[in-house]
Amino acid sequence: MTERLYYQDCYLQEFRARVVETGDDGRRVYLDRTAFYPTSGGQPFDTGTLGAANVIDVIDEEERVAHLLDAPIAAGEISAQIDWPRRFDHMQQHSGQHLLSAVLEELFHIPTVSFHLGAEVCTIDVAAPSLTADRIDHAEVRCAEIVGEARPLGITFEDAGADLGLRKESQRSGTLRVVAIQGIDRSACGGTHVRNTAEIGPVLIRKTEKIRRNTRVEFVCGLRALRHARADFRTLQELSRQLSAPAADTPGLVSAQLERIKALEKGNLRLASELAQREGREQWTATAPDAQGIRRAVEHVEQGAIDDALRTRAQAFVAQGSAVFLAVSKNPPSVLLAASADSGIHAGDRVKSAVTEAGGRGGGNQALAQGSLPATADLHSIESSLLGAK
Ligand SMILES: [Zn+2]
Repeated sequence: MTERLYYQDCYLQEFRARVVETGDDGRRVYLDRTAFYPTSGGQPFDTGTLGAANVIDVIDEEERVAHLLDAPIAAGEISAQIDWPRRFDHMQQHSGQHLLSAVLEELFHIPTVSFHLGAEVCTIDVAAPSLTADRIDHAEVRCAEIVGEARPLGITFEDAGADLGLRKESQRSGTLRVVAIQGIDRSACGGTHVRNTAEIGPVLIRKTEKIRRNTRVEFVCGLRALRHARADFRTLQELSRQLSAPAADTPGLVSAQLERIKALEKGNLRLASELAQREGREQWTATAPDAQGIRRAVEHVEQGAIDDALRTRAQAFVAQGSAVFLAVSKNPPSVLLAASADSGIHAGDRVKSAVTEAGGRGGGNQALAQGSLPATADLHSIESSLLGAK
C-alpha cells in the first residue's frame, strides 16, 4: 500500500522514497510513499521527476499509486520532485471549486453534481436548469469576500459513520478525509488544497451551458483567472482598436456592421442580377438570327461552375424570343441550355438525352435545363448536338 504524503501535507514538493516494485521495464514504478497526486475526483495527476526520469502519468490503483515514467529507473532509494507551478494551480482551482460550490449552496441552495479540472478551464455541473447573470455576479462577489477573509482550510480524518455535516453525503465507509473551509463548507475529498482562502486568489465565473437538466458552470481561479482576464482584455482591446471605438461600444458596433453587410450583400445580388439581364438583352440584339430565324449563343467557362449570373443572362437572352443559349463549363464538365418557347426546342429533353448518352446526369423543363458530365465526355460533340437545329 502506498503512503499518500499529500493527504497530510499538500505543500510537500520534494521527498525521498523507496522503489518497492517496477513494471514495464522500469517505467511503471511503485513507491513506499509518494507526494504525487494521481488523477481522481476531477483533479488531474501531478508531473515532476523520480530520480532522473520524468513522471508522465500517475494512476490511482486504490491501494497503490502507479507512476509512469518516460525512462526506466532502478530499484532502491530515490529522490522525487513535484512540478510545483502545475500542482499549485491545481490546488487553487480545486479549492476554488469547493468555495464556489459552497457559495452556490449557501446563496441559492443549488447543489453541485460534478467537477472537472481541465487544462484551460474548470467546470462544475450544478443541479439547476439555469443560472442568471445576477446570480453569477452575486456568487462571484461572495467568493471574493471569503477569499478576502483568508479563512483557513483544514484537513481532518473522520469516521464515515458519524454525522459529519458534509455539503454532499459521501458513499464511502471507514475513515473519510474531510476538507473544510471555515464556516461555509465541509466536503469529503482526497484532493490537494491551499491552506487558506486567500491563496485561491480570484474566482471568475465564465460561461454557463445547459447540460440536460443541469447547468455547466465554467470558472477559473488564481493565476489562471488573471491569465484569462488579461487575454480577454487583449482581445477586446484589439476589437476596440479595429473599430476605433471604446470597448463598451464594440458589441453594438459589431451588430450594426453585420446588419450593414447583410444589406450590402442583398443589394449586390440585386445589381448582379440586373446587370446579367441587361447583358442578356444586349447579347440578343448583337446576335444575328440564323436561316431559321433563331439566335444561337454559346458561352464557354474554362474553370468553375455555371453560376447564377450566367444562368440569368441565358434566361434574359431567350426571353427576347426565337433564341437558344448554351453554356459549357470545362471543369467541372457541365452544360446549361436555355430555349425560348417559340424556338421549337425542348431544353430538358435535349440535355437529358445528350448527357445521359455521355454517361452524365441532367434534365430540366422546356425553357431551362442543366447537366453534369464525366471528365471523359467529348464536350465538342455534346455542344453541337445541344445547339444544333432540330
Ligand atoms: Zn474536492
